[in-house]
Amino acid sequence: MRHSDKPLSAISPQYAKLCKFSAEISMVSSIGSLLNWDQETYMPAKAAAHRAEQAAFLSALAHEKATCSEIGDLISACEQDRTLTGDSKSSEARNIREMRRDFEHRTKLPTELVAELARVGSQAQEVWKTAREKNDFAMFRPWLEKMMDLTRRKAECLGNGSAGELYDALLDEYEPGATAKEIEGVFMPLAERLSLLVKELGASGKPPSDAPLRHPIDPSRQHELGLFVIRAMGFDLEAGRLDTTAHPFCSGMGPGDTRLTTRYREQSWTDALYSTMHEAGHGIYEQSLPKTPALFGTPISEAISLGIHESQSRMWENFVGRSREFWVWLLPQAKQIFGGAGGPLGGALRGVSVEEIFAAVNTAKPSLIRVEADEATYNLHVLIRFRLERALISGQLAVKDVPGEWNAAYKKYLGVTVPDDARGCLQDVHWSFGLIGYFPTYTLGNLYCAQLWETINKKIPSLGEQMSRGDFGTLKAWLNQNIHAHGRRYRAGELCEMLTGKPLSADPLMRHLEGKLRPLFR
Ligand code: ZN
Repeated sequence: MRHSDKPLSAISPQYAKLCKFSAEISMVSSIGSLLNWDQETYMPAKAAAHRAEQAAFLSALAHEKATCSEIGDLISACEQDRTLTGDSKSSEARNIREMRRDFEHRTKLPTELVAELARVGSQAQEVWKTAREKNDFAMFRPWLEKMMDLTRRKAECLGNGSAGELYDALLDEYEPGATAKEIEGVFMPLAERLSLLVKELGASGKPPSDAPLRHPIDPSRQHELGLFVIRAMGFDLEAGRLDTTAHPFCSGMGPGDTRLTTRYREQSWTDALYSTMHEAGHGIYEQSLPKTPALFGTPISEAISLGIHESQSRMWENFVGRSREFWVWLLPQAKQIFGGAGGPLGGALRGVSVEEIFAAVNTAKPSLIRVEADEATYNLHVLIRFRLERALISGQLAVKDVPGEWNAAYKKYLGVTVPDDARGCLQDVHWSFGLIGYFPTYTLGNLYCAQLWETINKKIPSLGEQMSRGDFGTLKAWLNQNIHAHGRRYRAGELCEMLTGKPLSADPLMRHLEGKLRPLFR
C-alpha cells in the first residue's frame, strides 16, 4: 500500500500500463458476465444461437488481450523493478505475482479452444435447461460428452504441474494450489463423520417438524422478505439487483453492479430465503472488494478463491440465517410481511414460535437436491459430484454411465433413491458449461466458514445479541476489513491461518453441526 497515494504512472509507467491492460481484460469479461446474466434471466429463447456467438467472440477477445506478448514483457519488466517488488508484501508486488500466475495460466490455452468452450458451453447450457425440464438425459448426453472432451483438452493444455492428475489443473483455476488428493484427504473423513452424525440424528427420537415451512407463501411476498433481509445484511441494492432464475447465482460484474438471482417455491418459502441470503453473501464480498478505478481489473480487486467466496455465502446462509438469534429478529418481521394474523395469506406462521422455526430450518435429512439440502447433508452431495467429475476427467467414468453412477452414489452416501434424472444428474447447471473442479470449493467454503466463525465469535463476543436485533453491521465490518479488503493479496490457506491461527480443519464444522443439531433432535 506504500504507493497508494501516488498516481500509478509516477510509480512505474510499465506497471501503469500493465494495470491498464488488466482493466481492459476485466472490462471485456464483465460485458460477458452481463450477457450471461441476461441469458439466465430475460433473454428470449430464440436469441440463444446468436448469444452463443457473442459469448464465443467476447471470450476470444478477452483471451487474446490477456495473452499478448506485450503483457508478458511488461510483467517481466515489473518483476525486475525493485521499487515495485522489493517489498514482497506491497500491493504492487502481490498484484504482479498474481498477474504472472494468470498470464502463465492463460497463455497455455489456445484462443480457439477458449472460444470453443464458450460457444459449446453456451449451447449446452440451453440444451441442459430443456433436458432438465423434460427429464431427458439422452438429449443432454452428446453435449455433456462434447463439454467433457473440451474440458479434458483444457486440462491437458494447462498441465498438471508435478505428479498430480489432470483434474488438479482444473481445480487450480478455482482454488489455487489445491489438489484432488488433498481434497480427498479432508473430504472422506468428513463424509464419514457426517454420515455417522446424520444416522445418529435419524435414529434419535423425533426429528424437528418442518410444518412452519410448508405454509404456501406467494412468491411476491417471498421476494419482499428476501429484499428485506439482504438490505439488513448490508447488500447495497443501489449497486445490485435480485432476479429469478432456474439456478440461483451471483455475478459481480464491476464497480456498482452486483447481480443476485434466486428462485421461489410456493410450498417451501425458506428455500428462496436461504438461497437469496447465500447469493447476497457472495454479493457483499463482491461489493466490498477494492474495485477503485485505479485497481479495477487487477488481482488485488478480485476474490481470493471460490472456497473463500463460498465461506462468505455459507456464513450468511447457515451461521447467521440458521441461528436462533436470527429468527428472534426475523420471525415477527416475516409474519408482518406475509400478512400477519387475518391478513391476505390467512395468517401464515400465526402461532409459530422462534423455537419451532429454529428447529424446522435445522433438519438433517438425506434428500435429492443439493441446493435445497440441509447443512449436515450438503457436503455429501458435494462429495458425490467431486468423485464423479474426477472420474469423468480421468476417463474412468463415461458420460453414458453418469445417471447410473449418480443414482448408486446417492443410495450409498445419502441412502435415497433417485426417482428421475431431473432430480438426479440433471439438477446442476455446472457441467453444462464446463465448470469442472468447481464443486469441491463448496465444501471447502463450509470448512473455511466454520473455522472463521469461531474466530469471529471470539472477536465479537456480543455477536449473538446483535443478530437478535437484526444488527449485522459489526459482522459485515469484520468481514470487510479482514477478508474482503485484501482481494487476492493472500492465498486462501494463508489467510485462514493468519485469521484463525490454524490450518484448515474439519473440526470446527463438526463442532458447529453437532453442537447445534444434537439438542434439537433429542
Ligand atoms: Zn455459493
